[in-house]
Amino acid sequence: MDGTAADAAGLEALVRLLAGRGVVVLSGAGLSTESGIPDYRGESGSRRRGTPMTYQEFTGSDAARRRYWARSHVGWRTIARAEPNAGHRAVEQLRRSGHVAAVITQNVDGLHHAAGTRTAVELHGGLRRVVCLECRRTTSRAELDERLEELNAGFRAEVAQPQPQPRLNPDGDAELAPGLVDCFRIAPCLACGGVLKPDVVFFGESVPKPRVQRCYELVDAAQALVVLGSSLAVLSGLRFVRHAARAGTPVVIVNQGATRGDDLAEARVALPLGAVLAEASRRVRASWPA
Ligand SMILES: [Zn+2]
Repeated sequence: MDGTAADAAGLEALVRLLAGRGVVVLSGAGLSTESGIPDYRGESGSRRRGTPMTYQEFTGSDAARRRYWARSHVGWRTIARAEPNAGHRAVEQLRRSGHVAAVITQNVDGLHHAAGTRTAVELHGGLRRVVCLECRRTTSRAELDERLEELNAGFRAEVAQPQPQPRLNPDGDAELAPGLVDCFRIAPCLACGGVLKPDVVFFGESVPKPRVQRCYELVDAAQALVVLGSSLAVLSGLRFVRHAARAGTPVVIVNQGATRGDDLAEARVALPLGAVLAEASRRVRASWPA
């Protein structure tokens, strides 16, 4: 594999830790870019425009919800069509061979699950589910998508007309001109008429305590923590890296670009995720078969 001497040393450290088994993976948006879902920096390295909608905005007005669902309705197609890449598949292979003990993901795209890692803890929830804020019933996004499509026939086509594809963010939010969203019709909960929200943690909302607790337990039991494709920009993920480092648990970071956890890591690899993980998986399973 190409890369610097530091990358080669990082890859060796990664393989050694995986061989020791009991590795917990913490994944972020960078793991899904090879599946066609842009990360927060986008392919060109530019930041997304505007900030994601907060929980307070979403629950505060119909207009905000209309804007959220219109943009999400357009972005959902890309998320729904995305397939796991070599990185997700390597993680699942390593889990099956016993080298990876658990997966915690900051991603809401469901791609670990799609790769077969059904036990992956979705720290920030998942876009494939929708929750009613009144009766708390959880339903499928695919079902809601059909309802929104019926209520807004031709909307997606209209959006695609004037310019090339709208820019997409990893939370399934497509960037649309403000005027376009005004006529979008949203759908209420079929059971109680309440407000529907994707089953993801919004900015301004906290991750449910039992879920955080579960992640701390996984990190406490880990022999090593491996960060895959996250710049650890938000405390939500960074706290687990700090927790592991404090306990003397080795941390390896695989990410193309600097992260907020770099000074806590024993090794770093700054190469494309899919190739690194496929290579690590090959080496580990060749030397230490299950
Ligand atoms: Zn309801």
